[in-house]
Amino acid sequence: MPATNSIATLDRLERPLRDLRISVTDRCNFRCRYCMPRELFGEQHAFLRRDELLSFEEITRVARIAADLGVRKVRLTGGEPLLRNGLPTLVGMLAGIPGIDVALTTNGSTLAQHAQALADAGLRRVTVSLDSLDEDVFRQMNDADFPAAKVLDGIAAAAAAGLAPIKINTVVRRGINDHTVVDLARHFRATGHVVRFIEFMDVGTTNGWRLDDVLSGWDIVRMISSELPLEPAEPNYHGEVARRWRYADGSGEIGIITSVTEPFCGDCTRARLSADGALYTCLFATQGHDIRALVRSGAGDDVIAAALAGIWSRRTDRYSELRSSETRGMPRIEMSYIGG
Ligand code: SAM
Ligand code: SF4
Ligand code: SF4
Repeated sequence: MPATNSIATLDRLERPLRDLRISVTDRCNFRCRYCMPRELFGEQHAFLRRDELLSFEEITRVARIAADLGVRKVRLTGGEPLLRNGLPTLVGMLAGIPGIDVALTTNGSTLAQHAQALADAGLRRVTVSLDSLDEDVFRQMNDADFPAAKVLDGIAAAAAAGLAPIKINTVVRRGINDHTVVDLARHFRATGHVVRFIEFMDVGTTNGWRLDDVLSGWDIVRMISSELPLEPAEPNYHGEVARRWRYADGSGEIGIITSVTEPFCGDCTRARLSADGALYTCLFATQGHDIRALVRSGAGDDVIAAALAGIWSRRTDRYSELRSSETRGMPRIEMSYIGG
């Protein structure tokens, strides 16, 4: 069945399966304190072995089957996806699946080298994470002594390769980078790129998350709007994760992602495939489903499709809406493993 004619696969809350985020590696050259704190992801940490990772062929096969179940967008992530050798080859393979848009989320550290090859391979969209333009603050956040200027070079290269408009993801932590938020907004204001400010989330168990460290999306909007007046804008499409705000003078827009203060589980259509082939139906899931074992068992496409559809149709996840004392202590998967 061609992907474009596929019938939506619904979960128990009637949410269709539309997006597949694929982590292609659990490794990263940054050690953002909110994601991979250095003391826990140091020399002793056991990253996945090469043979544990899904191959490009295995990833493409799962994505093709998922497309038949209704997936329209595949986002490559990690870890840092550009650390996986030959990523443009994978982009090309995925872009060849009818009805699928391929996007990438990257820390931008090597984007300048890869942007053209990625665009040539069929990448449609890129999101670059950049938490501050203040070099001291940015280095403190990535904990890898990496300069913001090089990420800006990557963004420029991506735009030159035709990947614009680019989304910029900025995680805001109270007392760490909140004082640099307005500068970041101002920098990207008339560029056509859209900065999305993300509330610091309690993903995983290693980032020492506290509610006190979260600056709410509304506070972020108020802060920016006091210097660069903003007005609300309609969503681009139903279920858009970021709430849009445009500059009153028409010079562009920003987004805010209020996963903590205003969760959006009701519209969540995302499944996540870890680098070693486990399927998760929520960012906060405690357990994945081993798709790699099925793929390597010699199962046919119909068997894999039935397994994926079965997993999705039993899905009831809405962690962020429930976020409570009962769920707080439960084991959770790290963002760098499952893919943001
Ligand atoms: N390494 C790539 C990058 O940083 O763009 C891709 C993977 S990263 C896990 C994906 C996204 O998750 C990034 O934009 C990152 O800022 C975001 N992220 C990671 N930990 C987070 C947290 N605790 N709260 C909110 N966003 C987080
Ligand atoms: Fe690496 Fe991205 Fe996590 Fe930062 S947010 S440590 S860049 S995976
Ligand atoms: Fe989706 Fe889970 Fe996040 Fe809710 S908490 S929006 S179900 S990933």
